[in-house]
Amino acid sequence: CGIVGYTGLDVAKNILVDGLKRLEYRGYDSAGVALERVAPNGSTSIDVIRRVGKVAGLESELAAVDADATCGIGHTRWATHGRPSVANAHPHTSCDGRIAIVHNGIIENFAELREALQARGHHFASETDTEVFAHLIEEAYDGHGGREGAHDLLTAVREACTQVVGAYGLAAMCADEPGVIVVARKDSPIVIGRGERGSYVASDVIALIEATRDVVVLEDGQFARLTPEGISYTDAEGAAIEPVVTHIEWDI
Ligand code: GLU
Repeated sequence: CGIVGYTGLDVAKNILVDGLKRLEYRGYDSAGVALERVAPNGSTSIDVIRRVGKVAGLESELAAVDADATCGIGHTRWATHGRPSVANAHPHTSCDGRIAIVHNGIIENFAELREALQARGHHFASETDTEVFAHLIEEAYDGHGGREGAHDLLTAVREACTQVVGAYGLAAMCADEPGVIVVARKDSPIVIGRGERGSYVASDVIALIEATRDVVVLEDGQFARLTPEGISYTDAEGAAIEPVVTHIEWDI
């Protein structure tokens, strides 16, 4: 239902919670975030924190979590496939937990994708249609069945999208690419903005407006790659595209 993402100079969890609160008016049954974690030895991983119920509950849980990550994604879920539960709440992760995604929309061919992924050894942790996306990205990233892995999140997301039938607004991160968020869309809104202190994504401009009034409305089949320093846009073939920036005049 609601997507937010941030990568930049500031602590991500506060920005994500603030964005999710602005999206609450749309209705939802659960909420969660994925945050990058850098260990003292420099190794990176992704923490996922999810709750059934209000964003305020997630906020108090996050307040107790020592997370100074400056990159993360968040979601408010309105269940379509699988009951409201912690296991079904987004973000969803790959088997090895190194890829995390949030998704709006419905994946129509999820049952056959799930069956094929399970036959290839993937274990599923939820009843959602969304989770297949995390596993498809993982396969494209790492390689499988003799196919070379992309080892690049943008390429892996693009490959996964070619297998999915349905509607999606998607934001993904990978523990092996700190500071990177990759975004895709088809028939589900995604807006992207560049603020003074980082790069932002959301499913609704209302969650971005505090950071910037110059936004890019992603079009179907387009992809964006956000880093703390900037944002690049590509089409379905991977060719760079020049984004159309819209200035938001109205007040909220
Ligand atoms: N279909 C997904 C699910 O049930 C996403 C629902 C949403 O857009 O919030 O988990």
